[in-house]
Parts: sequence; C-alpha cells; structure tokens
Amino acid sequence: MNRASVQKVAVLGSTGSIGVNTLDVIARHPERFQVDVLTANTQVERLFEQCQQFRPALAIMADERSAAALRIKLQQSGLDIEVSAGIDALCQSVSADGVDIVMAAIVGAAGLQPTLAAVKAGKRVLIANKEPLVMCGDIFIAEAKRSGAVLLPIDSEHNAVFQCLPSDFRTGSTPAGIRRVLLTCSGGPFRLRPASELSEVTPDEACAHPNWDMGRKISVDSATLMNKGLELIEACWLFGIAPDDVEIVIHPQSVIHSMVEYLDGSVLAQLGNPDMRTPIAHALAWPERIDSGVATLDLFEVARLEFEPPDFERFPCLRLATEAATVRGTAPAILNAANEEAVQAFLDGQIRFTQIAEVIEGVMVQCIANDASDLDTILADDLRAREIAASIMQQSPGQVRGGQQ
Ligand code: NAD
Ligand code: MG
Repeated sequence: MNRASVQKVAVLGSTGSIGVNTLDVIARHPERFQVDVLTANTQVERLFEQCQQFRPALAIMADERSAAALRIKLQQSGLDIEVSAGIDALCQSVSADGVDIVMAAIVGAAGLQPTLAAVKAGKRVLIANKEPLVMCGDIFIAEAKRSGAVLLPIDSEHNAVFQCLPSDFRTGSTPAGIRRVLLTCSGGPFRLRPASELSEVTPDEACAHPNWDMGRKISVDSATLMNKGLELIEACWLFGIAPDDVEIVIHPQSVIHSMVEYLDGSVLAQLGNPDMRTPIAHALAWPERIDSGVATLDLFEVARLEFEPPDFERFPCLRLATEAATVRGTAPAILNAANEEAVQAFLDGQIRFTQIAEVIEGVMVQCIANDASDLDTILADDLRAREIAASIMQQSPGQVRGGQQ
C-alpha cells in the first residue's frame, strides 16, 4: 500500500448497519479514504443522503426503478454522480482499476457475485457478508490465492481471531502452533428463555439484541444461534481449520470477541466494546491502526466476564450448522439457503420462531449435498434448498404475533 495515496473504497450495502458504520469510520479519515462507490437495495432516500455527504463517483441500486428515482434526485440537487442498477453493475464497479478496498456488506447470498468479483479482481476485500463465504469458502480462498486479493474478516469474532494470530498470518492458510479457536457468542436475546416459550416469540423480540445493533436477518440468526453456526463454518474457511478445532463459548457481556489457544496453553483474546467500528477500522487500515470512534473499554464498569457452554437442545440451529460444516460439499450452502428462506418467513409472520430450525432440518434431510467443486453446482443446490424450504413451509404454516404481513 502506498501510504501517501488516498485509498478508494467501494461500500456494497452502504445503507445497512455495517455500511453505515463503515462510512462513519471513513468520514473520520478523509486523508486516507475516499468513497468511490455506494450501493443499496431499494433505499433511495438513504442512498441519496449518503451521496450528498460522500460524493462517490458511482451509486448503484438493485433495480432500474430505484436507480431512476435516485438519478432524478441527484440531478435536481446538482450532483454529478453516475447511477446504475443491477448485479452486473455491482460486479463491474468492484473490479474497476480505481477501487482499492471493497467492503462486502450486502446481506445474504445476494452478495455472492459482487464479493467474488472483488476477490477475483485482487482487491482488499473486507468480508462482513458471511453467507457467500459459508456457501463457497473454498472458491473464495482459491480465487484470492490466484488474484492476490487480501481477505480481511469484519465479523467481530473472526476479526478478533485474526488479531490474535501471528502478524504474518494470511486468511486461507492454516496458522502454526494453534490448539483451537474459541468463538464467543453473546447467547442472543433468548439466552435465558425457557424452551417452552420460544415458539411464541415475535420478530421484534428476536431482533432486540442485548449487545449489538444489527440488520434484521442477522439479528434473527443471533437469536436462533444460527449466526454462530454460520460463523463456525466461516472460521473453518478463513483460518484453514476443521469444525472440531472450534469451540463455541457463550459470553453474555460481548467484551471478549474471540480467542486463540496455542499449543503451549497460551490463550490470546481480543477485547473491546461491542461496536463494529473496531473491526471495520482494523481492516480498513490493516496493518496500521486508526481511530474508529469507539469509546475506551471501561473494565471497571464491565466488572465481570462470564462463560457458559452452548445449549444445543434449545438452539438446534447450532447443531444443524455443525453437521453441515462436517459434511462439507454443498451442505453449508443448503443450510444457508434454507435458513435465509425460513428467517424471511419468520420476519413476515408466516412461521414461528421454533419452525426456523424445523424447516432447515427438513431441507437438510431432503436435499442431499453434492461435492462443492464449482459455483454452478453450489448455486443449483442453493436454489433446490429454497424450493424445498418453500414447499415445507406451505405444508405447515404457522402464524406468530407481530410479523410484518
Ligand atoms: P442490513 O440489512 O442492515 O444491510 C444490508 C445492506 O445490503 C443494505 O444496504 C441493503 O440495501 C443491501 N441489500 C440487501 N439486499 C440486497 C440485494 N438483493 N441486492 C443489493 N443490495 C442488497 O445488514 P447488516 O446487519 O449490515 O449485515 C450485512 C452483512 O454483514 C450480513 O451478511 C451480516 O451477516 C454481516 N454482519 C453484520 C454485522 C452487524 O453488526 N450488522 C456483524 C457481522 C456480520
Ligand atoms: Mg459475529
């Protein structure tokens, strides 16, 4: 990296929780970073405000209609910003010569193609969007090795592990001398909720995370503990380890973001306030350190750090994800697709919270995994899993209070 030059950043999913936090960090360092591309699904007003503040060269919406609406607003306010739409525009934008850093912060499998395009183009790719990595981690790692792309984890746990590994470690290789990785988990909003009450919880309750403010999909994943399951698979790819090398530790305070245990018994941990701007700033400036705007950790206020084992009975998604991680092949993609469909149905009030795991398990029984040798096979199994999930949900619909009908 040429320290003297300003780094141009493409923020995929800039209107989301990670996107907004990324722009907050970037705004603190105009001498280092310049926003080149901003993208959103359909949030025209939000992206327009971000365009006014950050003046990117290019803004991309998911569809033509939203792009047209944004174009008019920008023209009316005299802003000369190119607007385009669709997946091809996203892929082209992250591959452009001028872009140095790509923040992958779209939610779900929708982020796969642009993130992979950034990896193939050899960029510094900041991976928040964990679902594509879960689906086809080996393709990401192989393409990064081929292109020279640097993959840096934004998920707070994986960023913590990365920080606890030797400074010459690069994602996709296996670190020497480690005994295991300890992934911490807050336990989510239902950590203390009896199993008998879980079928009645609403989307709003599931999205009220005790420590983190996140988008609705990952919030539900955090409530089912599927998020930790996806993170286990993510860790296997990023750190070249097996599922058995990863231990999940419930740590309700979310102050230790994860740990690495070495062969000599040393356990290194990364601590900090639960604020995504820390991993974002770490990855934007790596290997240097910059201010993130995060408050100093007050250990006297935290006072106590607690740890407990996960409850695989109350949170079956964790067991299902561990099984998919062990089977490998397209099993993680099938798990992820079924989960995306079930979580959306729960958010829409079509199924109960406890049915999320039931749908995923049903899909995993019916949808036999293949070898994940190429992207087409993975995408075909993703589609198959979504169809099976839809048919299972049609057979056993259930209404919950508070769903977005
Ligand atoms: P979010 O729902 O707040 O934001 C998602 C962003 O993606 C928005 O900008 C939205 O416009 C865009 N988007 C959604 N669907 C799209 C589509 N089909 N095409 C194009 N753009 C689309 O989500 P988030 O909480 O910011 O999470 C983003 C990713 O980061 C997820 O994969 C999540 O698992 C991961 N992550 C988030 C956090 C967190 O603290 N929020 C932490 C770790 C990892
Ligand atoms: Mg995480």
